[in-house]
Amino acid sequence: GCTAQDVIAALRAGAAVVADHRDELVELDRVIGDADHGENMDRGFRAVASKLDTAAPETPGAVLKQVATTLISTVGGASGPLYGTAFLRAASAVGDATELDGMAVAAALQSGLEGVVARGRAEPGDKTMVDALVPAVDAATAAAAEGAGPDRVLAVAAAAARTGAESTEPLVARKGRASYLGERSAGHVDPGARSTALLLSAFAESRS
Ligand code: ADP
Ligand code: MG
Ligand code: MG
Repeated sequence: GCTAQDVIAALRAGAAVVADHRDELVELDRVIGDADHGENMDRGFRAVASKLDTAAPETPGAVLKQVATTLISTVGGASGPLYGTAFLRAASAVGDATELDGMAVAAALQSGLEGVVARGRAEPGDKTMVDALVPAVDAATAAAAEGAGPDRVLAVAAAAARTGAESTEPLVARKGRASYLGERSAGHVDPGARSTALLLSAFAESRS
């Protein structure tokens, strides 16, 4: 199962990957946005890691809730409230369980996606983080239904998110700043879809 310690390790891995890819995310957002996605995410996940240094909650849900409030108050932009809502919904989904099985991890991802959609109203194909999250949730749900544990659920989610993020390249953006570019947004990967794929890969790799 996946304990609070595992969730904390996953988040620290996420913070490290975001820091490593900060410039890449800035570049992606420079082309179709305002060049701040890498800074926004790095600021937010640094704050997440330093908050975990001073206060490490004792259940997965409490950790996820702390992450949500930290991201909401530090990331800013469009992505801050979206990621914040995703972690808040994921926290609610896991409740006060002390250990998560594959089904619980898949349900947390599903609730996170629902939070992003409730907040941002993006549909698949709009060229947003939703295009990484939808295939990730589908893959996670299918794996969990076949009895996969948290490791396998996160691994298939990460692989699907990566493909989903790459699939945003030819799309014309219909949500967020990139939509101001209209047809000129095509030909570039969406920064938020890329950051979602990076985070899920980090979460998956922290467990292997
Ligand atoms: P901002 O666009 O305010 O500068 P960021 O650069 O941090 O914020 O984040 C941009 C990312 O947010 C986009 O690449 C996209 O994935 C995501 N995004 C923007 N609007 C929406 C939305 N309505 N629904 C889902 N994701 C969105
Ligand atoms: Mg931006
Ligand atoms: Mg901005």
